[in-house]
Parts: sequence; C-alpha cells; structure tokens
Amino acid sequence: MHPRKVALVTGANKGIGFEISRQIGRHGFTVILAARDERKATEAAKRLQAEGFDAHGVRLDVTDPATAEATARWLDGQFGRLDVLVNNAGVSFEFAAGTKPSQLTLETLRATYDTNFFGVFTVIRHLLPLLRKSAPARIINQSSTLGSLGVLSDPASPFYGVNLLAYNSSKTALNGLTLAFAKELAGDGVSVNSVCPGWVRTDMGSDAAPRTVEQGAAIAVRLATMDDPPTGKFLDDGGEVRW
Ligand code: NAP
Repeated sequence: MHPRKVALVTGANKGIGFEISRQIGRHGFTVILAARDERKATEAAKRLQAEGFDAHGVRLDVTDPATAEATARWLDGQFGRLDVLVNNAGVSFEFAAGTKPSQLTLETLRATYDTNFFGVFTVIRHLLPLLRKSAPARIINQSSTLGSLGVLSDPASPFYGVNLLAYNSSKTALNGLTLAFAKELAGDGVSVNSVCPGWVRTDMGSDAAPRTVEQGAAIAVRLATMDDPPTGKFLDDGGEVRW
C-alpha cells in the first residue's frame, strides 16, 4: 500500500479546490487533483509538484459516472488507498444574473443538481469501497450557508434575500446527503461532514467577496487533517452552521 495518506479533491484545477489541495499537500498527503478537463488536472498537479508536493492529476467530471469509475480503478491500482475525499466541485448559474425562482428554467435547475448533488452522490458511490478499505477515512462535502434552511428562513440573516432556488436548494440537498451517509458510515470509520468556506474571491464568488482562497480552504483542510473528526456536522470557521 502507498506509504502516505491519499486525498482526492474534485474541482481542484482552480479556486478553493486548488487551495485545499495545496494545503492538504503541506500536511504531507499525496494529493490527487481531479478536474473535468484532463489538461487542467495535469497542469494544476504540475503547479503543486513545482512547490514540492506529491501531486497527481486525474480527469473526473462529476456528472460522468464513467470517469468516477475509472478514477476509482486508477486510485486502487496506483495507491491502494483513499483517506480523504473532498467533494468540492460546484456550479452556480444564477449568481451573475440574479435569477428569480420564477425565471429559472428546468434545464438550469437540472444542470445545477447534476453537479452539486447527483455529482457528489456519484463520486461517493464509486470511491466509497476504497474509503472503507482505508478507514479511518473522511468525506468532506463543500456546501454553503446558502444551503441552510435555518439561515434562509431567518429575516435577520444577511443571506435572507439571496433567493437562488437552484444553487441554494442543491446545497440543502447536499446537506441531506451528508447526514444520510454520516449515519450509515458511522460504524465503518468514515466521517462525513458538510462545510461552508464563507464568501470567497473566486470565479464563482467574484471579486466582491471578502475572503481569500486560503481562508476559504481552511475549514475543509482542518476536517481533512484533524485528529478524531466529528461526523454528520455542518461546519464553518466559526463552528456549527444551522442546517
Ligand atoms: P470556482 O472557482 O468556480 O471552481 C469551481 C470548480 O468546480 C472548478 O474547478 C470547476 O471546473 C469545477 N467543476 C464544475 N463542474 C464540474 C464537473 N461537472 N466536474 C468536475 N469539476 C467541476 O468556484 P469556487 O468558489 O472555488 O467553489 C468551490 C466550491 O465551493 C463549490 O462547491 C461552491 O459551491 C462552494 N462555495 C463557494 C463559495 C464562494 O464564495 N466562492 C461560497 C460557498 C460555497 P472548471 O474549471 O472545469 O469549470
């Protein structure tokens, strides 16, 4: 078996996912940077190799089950283990346009769920046998405070007016997935948690966001590397987020 712990991050070619990969690499892990474009995956891995990390790129489009299956086979053959899975890949088609629920098309709603919800399910289904084999192992789902019904229903919350049906509800569904897998896997030594990075300056978050990618990556990295992580929680830098 590969001597170092292995972590795979989806959507790792840029933004928060790339920074999570870098920070996990700093902790001595072998890092697998997964991206839907093979060239981008290879280039991102090369950037971390140049910084001295043990990094590898792999093509994984979370909406394409065949690439998830191929990734699982490749990981098993190459390393024989997977200690950490960070489901970071995500899309929002509504932010820029500020689409109202009544203006949303079915195509956009489906496309959002394909990546943010069904994509995470697909990746977990294919990588779980390897995670179970490597227990204690961790699954970290990159969610958002915008997926919190507690926050969205609170008129006092600054997020109350951010009414993006597809994105927000896809992250609510993702939180439901986190809880369901956390319960099933509690006895198998695989922890499953949702995290929120805060509002971060990336292509998705825009230049208006107050937080850096370093700050945004921190909570996922903490869960990936801390001793005895919790399971079935929704966490950000400040602690537990309301579901
Ligand atoms: P980003 O810079 O837009 O990066 C998104 C990443 O997801 C890219 O690598 C993108 O790949 C990848 N991706 C999209 N669809 C994919 C697919 N089908 N298969 C594989 N990869 C795919 O966004 P970010 O801000 O870093 O966001 C990362 C995560 O944090 C997302 O889940 C997002 O919802 C969450 N989040 C972000 C913020 C924020 O303020 N930025 C706040 C809360 C939560 P391509 O380069 O090929 O498009």
